[in-house]
Amino acid sequence: MARDNIRNFCIIAHIDHGKSTLSDRILELTDSVDKRTMEDQILDDMELERERGITIKARAVTMRYHADDGKEYEFNLIDTPGHVDFAYEVSRSLAACEGAVLVVDASQGVEAQTLANCYMAIDHNLEVVPILNKIDLPSADPDAAAKEVEDVIGLPCMDAPRVSAKLGENIRAVLERVVRDVPPPQGDPDAPLKALIFDSIYDSYKGVIVYVRVFEGTVKPGDTIRLMSTGAQFQLVEVGHMGATSLTPCDKLEAGEVGYLTASIKTVRDTRVGDTVTLASNPTAEALPGYRTVTPMVFCGIYPADGADYPDLKDALEKLQLNDASLSFEPETSAALGFGFRCGFLGLLHMEIITERLEREFDLDLITTTPGVQYRITLTDGTVEIIDNPSAYPDPARIAKQEEPFVNAHIYTPNEYVGPLMDLCQTKRGIMIDMKYLDETRVDLHYQLPLGEIVYDFFDAIKSRSRGYASYDYEWEDWHESKLVKLDFLLNGDLVDALSLIVFADNAYAKGRRICEKLKENIPRALFEIPVQAAVGGKVIARETVKAMRKDVLAKCYGGDITRKKKLLEKQKEGKKKMRQLGTVNLPSEAFTAILKLD
Ligand code: GDP
Ligand code: MG
Repeated sequence: MARDNIRNFCIIAHIDHGKSTLSDRILELTDSVDKRTMEDQILDDMELERERGITIKARAVTMRYHADDGKEYEFNLIDTPGHVDFAYEVSRSLAACEGAVLVVDASQGVEAQTLANCYMAIDHNLEVVPILNKIDLPSADPDAAAKEVEDVIGLPCMDAPRVSAKLGENIRAVLERVVRDVPPPQGDPDAPLKALIFDSIYDSYKGVIVYVRVFEGTVKPGDTIRLMSTGAQFQLVEVGHMGATSLTPCDKLEAGEVGYLTASIKTVRDTRVGDTVTLASNPTAEALPGYRTVTPMVFCGIYPADGADYPDLKDALEKLQLNDASLSFEPETSAALGFGFRCGFLGLLHMEIITERLEREFDLDLITTTPGVQYRITLTDGTVEIIDNPSAYPDPARIAKQEEPFVNAHIYTPNEYVGPLMDLCQTKRGIMIDMKYLDETRVDLHYQLPLGEIVYDFFDAIKSRSRGYASYDYEWEDWHESKLVKLDFLLNGDLVDALSLIVFADNAYAKGRRICEKLKENIPRALFEIPVQAAVGGKVIARETVKAMRKDVLAKCYGGDITRKKKLLEKQKEGKKKMRQLGTVNLPSEAFTAILKLD
């Protein structure tokens, strides 16, 4: 395909504004999927994505489009995730495109991630093509939404296509805009190869499949490629284009194209998203500018419920990391839980998704410890340590200064919810920076907030205090000096290291008490009484007691029904499997997650 007839674009939007639905319609209209195999949101093929109705992984598809000008175009569409945790994936997709279709829900207008994603696209020098979606809704007001896009983002929008992705109305107009407004790719097919890895997946038949955008040069099967960050070399087996549901091999990929490569790449660590691929025989001198490095913001320990599964867990984490460069992990040991990994995530949703995938796709039973953030601690001898693990917390006598991470958060909300949202930010120790009106009724609240206070449930809290109308977005701000303490928990007198937390000193007492209550609810009774205690620096600050057990499970079915007895015994066995012996106490893995859901 001539370069002039190629369009590489992605779709960006605030969550739920209709990206995935629009992608489906575009796939249908370009006959990229068989009508019979068409399912809703076909790009979201991960089981988990379907269940949660969100797009987690960016996916790319090559399509053919017969435009009104009579020519045939090759479209490479890259679907992107919309949740605040996955901004990194959005950034990777953008670097492979020349344009972005910005979907705005005409009944909602501009939301936090509409703006955040749009600015990211502009930062990558993409042509942004706005469209107004959901015009079929009675509450849709496309004129008002268009005006908001013009006022808030400064993007001309009055003549933007007005579509209903759900009903398939006016989809061609979107594709005509892509042809007209998104520039064709540049690049010289005869130059040394420069291709950007923007995604990769592990396939049990083909091995590692690498998704690339070729910027310069040509690549074909048989070539020896070199990955520039490591210098590793591989012989290419296959190149081709991604269809919606299959891969189609072709004889070469040229400058401007998006496609995939397979080689006998076995070690998953070799393909780094953001890396540049070149040819060993005629290498380029300079790598493409990499992506901004992702910094995990939330950390927790992940342990196999059965210690024998440790190698499987390691293998599974390595495989997931191939698909998700933002996941980090390193081995750690806990006196209570044995061998496991300290893992870093972009946010809490990211953490939940990874642990769920580990359990489902790799059939692992896991125990996850309470998530926390990083702290910067300066010792009295002047050394500075960054710690993400409470077990590494130094002796308080050696600490000179403690700092915790803060973020810049923007909350977009109708003005009637400003009061409750300001209260919320206040209880989270937020510092108000300013408040701007987006239009007569909508406000941008700008706060600096401690990351440690917002990682757990801030998103839900914002939604519930604004009846779902507010949205938010945040980015790293800076370290702020803070008063911190390590909060420990003792079960039957034994310290359980895996339960320890670093908390803001003034919150230690309240937190300690709440967590003791939660633990008490979740620890099954034993034949003896179990004291549950919270302590700071060896001093107990809260206590609950799990009463001793009186009856066994079968006591309540007198004689009679054998199937019921069996069921109860089954249940008990099931419970035991998930239980972890901590010293003298059995702790169910639910106890760890229960601590999370405190508010
Ligand atoms: P995404 O999060 O941006 O990918 O949004 P989805 O495509 O998953 O859509 C979110 C919700 O909005 C789904 O329930 C869709 O059915 C619905 N939706 C998408 N487009 C339209 C539309 O044009 N009209 C209406 N009424 N609903 C739509
Ligand atoms: Mg989606």
